[in-house]
Amino acid sequence: MLIRTRMAPSPTGEYHIGGLRTLLYNYALAKKDGGQFIMRIEDTDQKREVEGAEERLLVVIKDYGLDWDEFYKQSERLDIYKEYAQVLLKNDSAYYCFCTEERLDQVRKEQQAQGLPRTFYDGKCRGLDKDEAFKRVLAGESYVIRQKIPKNEEIVYEDAVLGKITFNTADLDDSILMKSDGFPTYHLAVVIDDHLMNITHILRGIEWLPSVPKHVLLYKAFGWEMPVHAHLPNLKEKGANKKLSKRFGDVHAAAFLEKGYLPEAMLNFLMLLGWNPGTEKEIYTLEEFVKDFSIERIHKTDLVAFDREKLLWFNGYYIRGMSVEDLHKRILEWSKKFNVSLPEGFVSNSGQMVLKLIQERLKTLNEVSGLISYFYEEPSLDMQKLTEFAKDKSAAKEILNSFTELFGPLESWGTKQLDEKAHLLLQEKGYKPKEAFMTLRVAVSGVTATPPIFETLEILGKEKVLTRLKAATYLIDSQ
Ligand code: GLU
Repeated sequence: MLIRTRMAPSPTGEYHIGGLRTLLYNYALAKKDGGQFIMRIEDTDQKREVEGAEERLLVVIKDYGLDWDEFYKQSERLDIYKEYAQVLLKNDSAYYCFCTEERLDQVRKEQQAQGLPRTFYDGKCRGLDKDEAFKRVLAGESYVIRQKIPKNEEIVYEDAVLGKITFNTADLDDSILMKSDGFPTYHLAVVIDDHLMNITHILRGIEWLPSVPKHVLLYKAFGWEMPVHAHLPNLKEKGANKKLSKRFGDVHAAAFLEKGYLPEAMLNFLMLLGWNPGTEKEIYTLEEFVKDFSIERIHKTDLVAFDREKLLWFNGYYIRGMSVEDLHKRILEWSKKFNVSLPEGFVSNSGQMVLKLIQERLKTLNEVSGLISYFYEEPSLDMQKLTEFAKDKSAAKEILNSFTELFGPLESWGTKQLDEKAHLLLQEKGYKPKEAFMTLRVAVSGVTATPPIFETLEILGKEKVLTRLKAATYLIDSQ
């Protein structure tokens, strides 16, 4: 069987990272056996549509390196839904409803006042005579089409992940299938499209599970075979039993890219959020994932933890694994795309020397500026930091003077000899490594954490180092 899967996002906001996880699984399932992955924009809820959301979500999916074989848009298929709604009306699986918004509001209020656990359509138009209803439609009365849910029927459904689930139609509302504006609702459009597009497998978030019985009934009413359905766990914040929330960090797929997460690192992280290979293997290329993915190994649970620390780890792992040339190129591309300004010196090829020093510590691309700034700009010095590693201010000043005297006459300037000379100085003067090197480090960089000090000095160059030592001494003197 040729596998055809789909992703069916609604352009109602920015693309959520959970959507990308679901898309990735659908993509893998289709591609595994040479099948097709379909992109379908479900834009039938005009009220909830957000300007530009569709374009942005398509761009971000491609930015993550994923693509589709076919593309559809529901708002361009309205005639198809109308035609199929007629089939349901004819075989008594749906009915015209003429209730006004005001009446429905009233019904809702009354049900709430009675303390009912949920509100539902009271069925006023369910029993209308069909010819009568049709006459009203022809006369131009505003209507919707509702699904005629059979009373008290058991629906047994087999989920490819969750197993057998039984629903009772008593819990279902006669929900709207076709709205008064001629647009279908999700339930009608999704079933028609999945059938007409020959979708064989539907993997989607578990929040869609309650829709299943309505869809089972619709497939039955049309006389169509239902595709395999599998419901995936939703993502939750690690340590909190909550859905992903902006309070904890980013939640939109685009925002992670802007922060400097690499697409391949994010995809690798998402692969393991709801699926596991059954081995210790953690590092996956997209190709390997497509090969290994199977529905059988999807986690049978409601929620899986989105561990932001782990994501950082994956990103750092991919950053460390790149050649410094590639990483430099990626950083420049990223900064261009997101309008991040980087020091000119870093943008040139010589920036690679600096990058090499910080590559190990870099976890996201947006940390670059902070980690490299003192290579290109004079650091602002903090008196407290500058003197806290020596016994007192005058000891700190003495250390700085000693380094100035040591470095001043040097004719060649390289990591190895700076290291040797500095250690000899420590022996001669009796300084402890920490007090001497930390004071030196703060004086030349303004910060307490840098790459190895002698490599840092080498790249800064003798002139800059001496100027900064002078400025640091001056600061101590002036206070
Ligand atoms: N349009 C739905 C969404 O926004 C699709 C749900 C489904 O996959 O059936 O996610």
